[in-house]
Amino acid sequence: MFCRNLGKSGLRVSCLGLGTWVTFGSQISDEMAESVMTVAYDSGVNLFDTAEVYASGRYSTDCLTYRLLQGGSMDTEEHARNDHLCVCVCVAGLRGSLSRLQLDYVDIVFANRTDVNAPMEEIVRAMTFVIEQGMAMYWGTSRWNVVEIMEAYSIARQFNLIPPVCEQAEYHYFQRDKVELHLPELYHKIGVGAMTWSPLACGLLTGKYNEGVPESSRAAMKGYAWLKERLCSDEGKKQLSKIKELHLLADRLNCTAAQLAIAWCLRSEGVSSVLLGVSNTEQLLENLGSVRVLSQLTPPLIAEMDALLGNKPRNVKKEARR
Ligand code: NDP
Repeated sequence: MFCRNLGKSGLRVSCLGLGTWVTFGSQISDEMAESVMTVAYDSGVNLFDTAEVYASGRYSTDCLTYRLLQGGSMDTEEHARNDHLCVCVCVAGLRGSLSRLQLDYVDIVFANRTDVNAPMEEIVRAMTFVIEQGMAMYWGTSRWNVVEIMEAYSIARQFNLIPPVCEQAEYHYFQRDKVELHLPELYHKIGVGAMTWSPLACGLLTGKYNEGVPESSRAAMKGYAWLKERLCSDEGKKQLSKIKELHLLADRLNCTAAQLAIAWCLRSEGVSSVLLGVSNTEQLLENLGSVRVLSQLTPPLIAEMDALLGNKPRNVKKEARR
């Protein structure tokens, strides 16, 4: 597993991180959650994304505590270089997270724009306070638009406060504009990187929904009717037919559809890390294999995928990153 700097900060994060949304707590057992964390850690993942709202802060934090306190088999040279664990949490409930994780600080704390309804100066002051109090090393934004991030940066510069280093943004085949069109400019201008989420569009891109909704899948879970509706919509049907074609392309590359979709996210400029979500260790191992697929994503192949998807954002100045 290789690492990248988080934006232009000095924080080195594994290019694939593990998220604990949805499946942890509601869908998988404690034992499976622990196995998933163990496999991720032993495979070189050093970035774990959690929030108090994810699984009520229960499974994720138990497992994180376990992995952090127990350590792992860091026996290869690559792992040895990767000796720093990065934990991200959402700002709401930071003190609770720290005490549950038995940590003095987390590496990065995120301010979710939808959670925070305050003037920008207060948000930047609050995040600066969190860092100056030693509860976090860096802060990032989650679901903010480019104007908001620029405003936060300007306020930080004006009042000698600390600016954000990255934005958590949705990014996959069908959600491209922000990460490909807008965030690269921010990266160059103010060093804000992208930590992206939902690389498989909640599982859609794996092809598992091509023939309907499997009983054990996310779309069949209580509270995810919106996902089922999305699949059945006209737009969803169009997307499913593109996914079938992308599946054939993955076969040609001798990889799975999930691996191709995740590698495709990794190739994008300014993407520091892609957050994975999994229900079991098999899915995790498969998805981690996407790193090997990255070198196969040549410019002609990306062009072929763009033609197939038909939604390449305009004005993308620089495309491939390998
Ligand atoms: P994905 O889009 O990758 O969806 C993950 C789901 O897809 C899994 O739970 C599983 O669901 C299915 N899946 C994964 N791998 C495979 C595979 N190989 N084969 C078949 N099915 C597979 O990611 P998430 O939407 O879970 O997002 C990842 C992380 O990003 C979250 O955990 C969270 O940390 C972060 N996030 C942040 C947000 C924010 O606002 N900042 C918002 C959303 C996510 P199943 O088996 O149930 O079908």
